[in-house]
Amino acid sequence: MTDRPSPQQRDVDDARSAADDPEAWAFETLRADRGADGIVTITVLVPGRAHNVITQSVLFDLEAILDQLDAGPPPTGLIVASARPGSFVSGADIGRLEVLVRAASADIEWLCESGRTLFARLASRPWPSVAAIDGACLGGGLELALACDARVATDASHTVLGFPEVKLGLMPGWGGTALLPRLVGPGAALELIAAGEPIDGGAAARLGLVDACVAPELALATARGLVERLRDDAARTARRRRMAGRVVLAPEERDFLAASSAAVINGRTGGHYPAPPTILETILDGLDVSAEHAARLEARAFARLLASPVTGHLVRVQRLAERNRRDPGIDCRSSATPSPSATAIAAPAVVGAGIMGSGIAAAHLRAGFTVTLVDIDEEALARAVPTILDEAARDPARRHATEDRTAVDAARLHPATHPAALVTADLVIESAVERTDVKLELLRTIEATVGPDTVIATNTSTNPIGRLASALAAPGRFCGLHFFNPVRRMTLVEVVRGPATTDATVATAVAHAKRLGKCPIVVRDSPGFLVNRLLMPYLHEAVEILREGVAAARIDGVARRFGMPLGPLELYDLIGLDTALYAGLVLADAFADRIAASPVVPALVRAGRLGRKSGGGFYDYAPEQAPVGRPGPPIGDATALIAPVIAPYRLPPRGDDDDTITDRLLLPVVLEATRVLDEGIVRDADEVDLAMIHALGFPPFRGGLLAWADDVGPTEIVRRLGTLADLGPRMVATQRLRAMATEGGRFVA
Ligand code: NAD
Repeated sequence: MTDRPSPQQRDVDDARSAADDPEAWAFETLRADRGADGIVTITVLVPGRAHNVITQSVLFDLEAILDQLDAGPPPTGLIVASARPGSFVSGADIGRLEVLVRAASADIEWLCESGRTLFARLASRPWPSVAAIDGACLGGGLELALACDARVATDASHTVLGFPEVKLGLMPGWGGTALLPRLVGPGAALELIAAGEPIDGGAAARLGLVDACVAPELALATARGLVERLRDDAARTARRRRMAGRVVLAPEERDFLAASSAAVINGRTGGHYPAPPTILETILDGLDVSAEHAARLEARAFARLLASPVTGHLVRVQRLAERNRRDPGIDCRSSATPSPSATAIAAPAVVGAGIMGSGIAAAHLRAGFTVTLVDIDEEALARAVPTILDEAARDPARRHATEDRTAVDAARLHPATHPAALVTADLVIESAVERTDVKLELLRTIEATVGPDTVIATNTSTNPIGRLASALAAPGRFCGLHFFNPVRRMTLVEVVRGPATTDATVATAVAHAKRLGKCPIVVRDSPGFLVNRLLMPYLHEAVEILREGVAAARIDGVARRFGMPLGPLELYDLIGLDTALYAGLVLADAFADRIAASPVVPALVRAGRLGRKSGGGFYDYAPEQAPVGRPGPPIGDATALIAPVIAPYRLPPRGDDDDTITDRLLLPVVLEATRVLDEGIVRDADEVDLAMIHALGFPPFRGGLLAWADDVGPTEIVRRLGTLADLGPRMVATQRLRAMATEGGRFVA
């Protein structure tokens, strides 16, 4: 199966296969083999891809095989399987979706129709068909499987079935919303399609989505058994009739499904994502009509969703994440720099077993590494170990967290109180307390202990990499590896290139962050790096608005309604006001022209209100919500309680409405992003958007900070900033923004 013909060879090979060997046809992406029992097995292997996806060639090849089968002696049955381990067929080809986003809606409906007609042709052949699913069977791949009379899935951990289109703002387009409710019932179908979470083979069997779930080595034999059973015309016809007809649902059942699903969807999406309600409406409308009619409704709804700006944003965000996965990203200014090969880290170590060091160690365990963890404080280490093991086991990817798993993890975590334990490490991530003197001394000790090729990284939030590098004799092997809190949930890692950091060090750090399942971006050494620098104006403005007498809950509510997962004051409490104060001082020092250190945060710190970790900051927290990094809802807006602390620093009220508060929170961040781009801190606007989404949860449906700025429009932003001019230099449009406003430029392509 490895030496598939190239596209150029296809015509020749099509002819040759038909003429020379009526028992086998090999096309670019599909191959069909007729066995001695007359069963034809189609296997999928899409060349040049890590996974099988439905390309135009797959559709052409399927059509050609059906033509061949119709023209020759009929097979006794058909099995569809994959020749690629771990991948049956996944649906969307992202590159193609980006083209489709710009297509006319009539063309989209036609594309839906043509794919669906092809699958319907497969479904209506006069012989039984069975999909043997081993590996990811998603989107269009699941629709292909649904076109078969029966399905068998394997119990391998790589086998997952589902419709993830909703995550791109879309829905199935080749009959999925019509067929799935007829197979598993409308409620289960709705959950699978509107939530977009794939399920494993066992769950698929319990749901009735597949007829059997078996070990991979039994999949083909089981599929053959199902073919035998479905040769019985009555059994096959009953199945086909059910899949083609209407779904009978009592009016009260239907009303309940509509109301309860709408409530769940609204709770999950906050009304920001059009796909889930469209899926609900399409499934409900498709129940009372034939499956064919339901599929036409689906095509129309699919075209509508594809034209929505939210889908455009989600597809782009997905493409940026894909680019990040592939890109060695060694230079923050140009992707053209040749990339030196990264060293694969085998013996990582973390120094500092606090909140961050524990999270980083747990991330290593989850990724399968053995990791050494050093802390001078024996008690801190003893406290950290159970937290780390718990966090490693709680990862959702570990669906079967068991005591065995924890025992395995425990054997791979090597805690130590002395730096001598670092002697064999090939990567050391320093994550000790944020004190420059401690870090300088520690880095000297680390360098004196490890071998000459060991990469040394620091998780510092505020120390310039160049300053810390001064402690090292060989600063080329040193870089920043800046994780975000909580490490388990925040996927961004800033790889900070110091003045002396070599390309090889950056490449190794980037590759290692990816092995931890993170999204690394390379940033230049500068105060606050990228994310904290963009975060600070947002946090600072929230406190200024609070000083004008606006309640904390209202400020955070405005940010949440915009789509942020946490409001700025809730975020302050999560980070810790003492930590944020220190980071803020560094930034106020560096960018004094526009950031004045707020007097409120130090006053709160002096009053002992440090945020979640002390039980109260801008909000009060129940004691069980106190552990840092475990966000839960605050139990009360503490505006009244902290009023006396804030009183000396009150500002005159401006009476801003919610839209103005949104602008005040976010426009200074856009301004800071323009400066970051001017200074070449990151490669481009795409990386700013990726970072804001992966580090701060900026709403993906808005496409990221700068995609949102493009949607508002530079001219409009400059106008709105004009209305905020009384607030001082922090609201003054930058040169880049003014130029974009007059010349009509955009941030993102
Ligand atoms: P923390 O106070 O929770 O933990 C620091 C740990 O370092 C303590 O366990 C302490 O015993 C240990 N330590 C002190 N001196 C040491 C030494 N010489 N050798 C070994 N261990 C030593 O701090 P944290 O919040 O985990 O922060 C750690 C680093 O991560 C800091 O550089 C911080 O700026 C950075 N960071 C923090 C956050 C955050 O939100 N907390 C986010 C990103 C980065």
